[in-house]
Amino acid sequence: MEFRAHYWSMLRPDAVEALHNEVFRKVLSWYYSVLVEDYPAKFHIAKAIPIPSDINISSCDEECLWAVHRDLEKSFLSLWREVRKEGIKFREFKKMYGEAPRNFLDLKIAIAKSILKNCRFCEWRCGVNRYTGNGGACRLDSKTYVHSWFLHIGEEAPLVPSGTIFYGSCNFRCVYCQNWDISQENPFSGVVVGPRQLALMQKELRDSGARNINHVGGEPTPNLYTILESLRHLDVNVVQLWNSNFYMSLESMDLLKHVIDIWLPDFKYGNNDCALRLSKIPRYVDVVGRNHKIAIEWGDMIIRHLVLPNHIECCSKRVLKWIADNLPLDRVLVNIMDQYRPEYKAFEYKDISRRPSAKELEEVFDYADKLGILWRDISR
Ligand code: SF4
Repeated sequence: MEFRAHYWSMLRPDAVEALHNEVFRKVLSWYYSVLVEDYPAKFHIAKAIPIPSDINISSCDEECLWAVHRDLEKSFLSLWREVRKEGIKFREFKKMYGEAPRNFLDLKIAIAKSILKNCRFCEWRCGVNRYTGNGGACRLDSKTYVHSWFLHIGEEAPLVPSGTIFYGSCNFRCVYCQNWDISQENPFSGVVVGPRQLALMQKELRDSGARNINHVGGEPTPNLYTILESLRHLDVNVVQLWNSNFYMSLESMDLLKHVIDIWLPDFKYGNNDCALRLSKIPRYVDVVGRNHKIAIEWGDMIIRHLVLPNHIECCSKRVLKWIADNLPLDRVLVNIMDQYRPEYKAFEYKDISRRPSAKELEEVFDYADKLGILWRDISR
């Protein structure tokens, strides 16, 4: 891809420099391979893996679909390894492997549509049929709402400009949510989009210079079926980025891990009690921690942690310690975010009704240094 001078480069010179930053290139090696070297994004590799001709996925139940999925994962891994070893670029890849008429991505779409009848996209595991109603925690039926989509220049330097798509609704109820209008109060006021429209949005964002497609919200997870199907219609080569609260179910992790190139999880809390109190979410650390461990095996990662006032010991330090204890530190960048300000219902909670102090922030930064976490260049 050619990177021309654009308006954003004047506002974010660090994003231009990020293309040459050795630490970023090393830690986010797959991301840069797709972005700069033009290796095929993972969803193109998934589309090259054929479903065996003796398997008819339309007559398979979900269990049978998962069995085929486990088999095709081996072919995916082998081809992904070959792409990296041989340095196969997108055009060359398309000539060599093309797109199988019925492929691994089609299989994932079939599984996602089956899950939609008994929804387990996230760990609420509501079990509702979203084709006939919207009784789950996210309140979404089978429609996907997009509230806005544009080139975002406020993200981390390696990601800017980021082709960001904001989906309506959320499975969390954070009392300090800064996107509360689209996540909680008016989630259905966006535009209903289908897979083809979503693919067109992604193509237009890429053609406008987006370094990646940034699926965010609200929360992208309840919309996973539309996002997967959009990739069937997407011909351009573009990084897929999952910007999420990371409360996905294991099924969703299995569906996503072969198509997402870089993960951007929010690691908010260091214990389950604070998560339950401030986001109304049970089993937070168990689920989100588990998903971090899976995700790092399958792509690059920038973890975001928003420092909340009065939550330094119980949350910030515990999150950083969890990262240091459980993830390979040379493969993870952590954005320690200092911009918290009370919004939405935060004034009803005394502990988070102010901004974090300079002393609190310094304490978190010092602790990250002590643990050897890579955060300094990525946090603004
Ligand atoms: S996406 Fe999550 S919250 Fe929404 S219905 Fe499915 S399991 Fe429930």
